[in-house]
Amino acid sequence: MGGADGGTARDRRHAPAGPPQPDVRYSFTPDGGGRLRVSFPCPTCHQRIRVPVRGRVRARCALCRSVLECDT
Ligand SMILES: [Zn+2]
Repeated sequence: MGGADGGTARDRRHAPAGPPQPDVRYSFTPDGGGRLRVSFPCPTCHQRIRVPVRGRVRARCALCRSVLECDT
């Protein structure tokens, strides 16, 4: 074990606190039936996407067809 600094993944740390994307606004709206839906604007075309809250879901934008993974 020398004193050489490998310099691998040592200083690569994500922000400890704070929202990663303050630009994206998630809004939860109750859907009749006790279910919850989360809607957010597409980061690409700003189209409103609504997906049911079921853990990690993959939503596809109907406009630009970009697949967005969101953890609900
Ligand atoms: Zn889109």
